[in-house]
Amino acid sequence: MASVQFKNIFKSFGSFSAVEDVSFDIADGEFVCLLGPSGCGKTTSLRMIAGLETPTSGQIFIDGKEVTHLHPKDRNIAMVFQDYALYPHMNLADNIAYPLKVRGEAVEKRHARAKEVANVLKIGHLMNRVPSQISGGQQQRTSLARALVYPAKVYLFDEPLSNLDAKLRLEARGFLNHLQRDMGITAVYVTHDQAEAMALASRIAVMDAGKIVQFASPIEIYRRPATTFVANFVGNPPMNLVEVEGAQVDGQLRLKASDLKIVDLPMTDAIASALSASPKLTLGIRPEHLHIAKAGDENTVTAKLFANENMGPESLVTLDRGDSARITARIFIDDHLELSDTVSLSFGVEHTHLFDSSGKRIPAVGE
Ligand code: ATP
Repeated sequence: MASVQFKNIFKSFGSFSAVEDVSFDIADGEFVCLLGPSGCGKTTSLRMIAGLETPTSGQIFIDGKEVTHLHPKDRNIAMVFQDYALYPHMNLADNIAYPLKVRGEAVEKRHARAKEVANVLKIGHLMNRVPSQISGGQQQRTSLARALVYPAKVYLFDEPLSNLDAKLRLEARGFLNHLQRDMGITAVYVTHDQAEAMALASRIAVMDAGKIVQFASPIEIYRRPATTFVANFVGNPPMNLVEVEGAQVDGQLRLKASDLKIVDLPMTDAIASALSASPKLTLGIRPEHLHIAKAGDENTVTAKLFANENMGPESLVTLDRGDSARITARIFIDDHLELSDTVSLSFGVEHTHLFDSSGKRIPAVGE
């Protein structure tokens, strides 16, 4: 296993800048997810670690050794692709053993090792079949087995679960989580699925337009998103973002929006500095921190019901705040709500987040 380091990496394709000044340190044994929307530069970053792309500028280190211009085969990395990239004419034994074959291992030894890994991945009984004779989930595990058959310094995953159906995907995710805990591999895993990143990563690098906007543990990203982009990308449903006008009144912060009632909040230097740039702030509230308001609740948002989706253990109650602004609560609800109903949702101010007019988090008191 090994560490991976990016130092001021830029990558352009012609005049298009795909990765812009990305730096990070991945420690030995860490599982890092690169998370972001399509086209944000995740795969390009992964391919640069593998040596399949060369940075336009900057340096890459694996295990403290510079590899920026090293050939892929000399980096000792293993990669699992989205489409599995299995050899269709080879049976599973030969597919899995392939990395050992190219390294010159004798046939018996490599088949024995392939069988060992296949057994761990519960495909040991399928070794004589070719890929077209096994299911998508089994193909995915074959691809994983091939990556794990030879001890690499770093394991790279490019959306390896995206071709699986929802149930298999959950199963494979649990399996990968177990594997990581069991083997302690250093892994970089590309996904645009926030739930997958939250479930698997020791740290997540959230990327937007070629840059890393936050690099932190899943819980830190969830509890203290650095920007409205991160707040909106992580969480299902995502954090509600309410545009508000802020003003300093009697040394406190007063927030206003037509359908919002909220007590004045303690003023801080960070809030004062945000207000001096612009009174336009964004209030963030996660769906699980909203409840159906009771008489006397101090902090509420009130609007017409837009949808009430029953999810089994809970419901997603969405209000239409006008101008296509919506707010969603994840709540346990017995009541029957009609579309014509006006609903008040309440929240505790300790569960709110504030962002300045540029979308940057304003640290809460004590952060
Ligand atoms: P996805 O989730 O869709 O795979 P991604 O975040 O992995 O997206 P990349 O594949 O890294 O994104 O691509 C980043 C940007 O660089 C995209 O706009 C893409 O079109 C562009 N790009 C990637 N490879 C090339 C290339 N070889 N030539 C030109 N542009 C490229």
